[in-house]
Amino acid sequence: MEKEKSEKKLGIALVGLGKYSAGQLAPALQETQHCYLAGIVTGSALKASEWKARHHLPDTNIYDYTTFDSIAGNKDIDIVYVVLPNSMHAEYVIRAAKAGKHVICEKPMALTVEDCDRMITACKEAGKMLSIGYRLHFEPHTRELIEYGRSKRFGEWNLIRAENGMGSTEGWRLNKEMAGGGPLMDVGIYCVQGTRYITGLEPISVTAQEGPKKSPERFKNIEESLSWQFEFPNGIIAQCKSSYADEYNLLRAEGSSGWVELSPAYAYNGIKGKTSEINLSLPEVNQQAKQMDDFAIAIKSNRPTPVPGEMGRQDVKLLQAIYQAMKTGEKIMIG
Ligand code: NDP
Repeated sequence: MEKEKSEKKLGIALVGLGKYSAGQLAPALQETQHCYLAGIVTGSALKASEWKARHHLPDTNIYDYTTFDSIAGNKDIDIVYVVLPNSMHAEYVIRAAKAGKHVICEKPMALTVEDCDRMITACKEAGKMLSIGYRLHFEPHTRELIEYGRSKRFGEWNLIRAENGMGSTEGWRLNKEMAGGGPLMDVGIYCVQGTRYITGLEPISVTAQEGPKKSPERFKNIEESLSWQFEFPNGIIAQCKSSYADEYNLLRAEGSSGWVELSPAYAYNGIKGKTSEINLSLPEVNQQAKQMDDFAIAIKSNRPTPVPGEMGRQDVKLLQAIYQAMKTGEKIMIG
């Protein structure tokens, strides 16, 4: 019985065993019903042996970055999950697709729209599905807000506020070549997503301003903080900000007959919501487990993923427009 059940699960290989893989994805894969941790790709021999012992992985399912392409012949691996620094996403998604695997790619999908296009094309040519690690689409409070927007429960939205700041950062996230930018690429992307899913619309223009640098020596080539304003159809304005110096975590929408708010809005757990009428009290879920299970079900049932590569591409396009607005000081129209 147990064997039958496990045989139905799809095998996932995590590529890059950093904080997110170790802290969130591997634990989530203990809770998933439709997929399981079947393999790893790592540049660290120490991590390889630790993960092998902890997760009972066979040697045949352990790869490094040079042997990665031979994953093509491994029937245990159905899905490759790319959890590498941002600048490496495009290369590894394309290599995974060429190896004939379905792919999940972490956010931001890539540094450029051109790379997103190459990634989407590679997966299409391989006949494989591509999904982005947008876990919040599987989180109950977020889903409730999306539904309020769709049903116009609080009338027409007028004003959105989306704010995501982390008090600190380190490592490759401070390196423009690897991160593609500063907090906008890392945590501001959640605000871009938030404004899109709560309105169900696409922004038509953007203005943006870089914030003051408290630590100019750490933030040489990237912003330490920024604010931006999206204009959506129907006159909806979204005021957004993101930072590596200050902590905040908010998604709020004000409509013609009430308001809704999540704070924290983008966390792994403990998301809290209220509206002009009630406090939301919805169940806590393991977002990453739900996200990976949904992708496995989508593959098994041959239906689209709700968080496809095209969604990631649109966010990258908007991130680039925000940077263009910030650098030029001009209002950028988004085609
Ligand atoms: P980490 O720095 O903790 O881990 C990245 C891993 O990538 C490293 O541990 C390493 O794994 C591998 N790697 C390969 N080459 C390099 C290199 N040149 N420099 C650094 N690392 C390298 O990053 P995170 O786990 O925090 O983030 C990884 C990705 O996941 C990012 O794109 C990030 O945006 C995304 N993310 C998404 C989250 C979400 O909520 N959806 C949350 C956190 C991150 P190894 O030693 O095994 O080779």
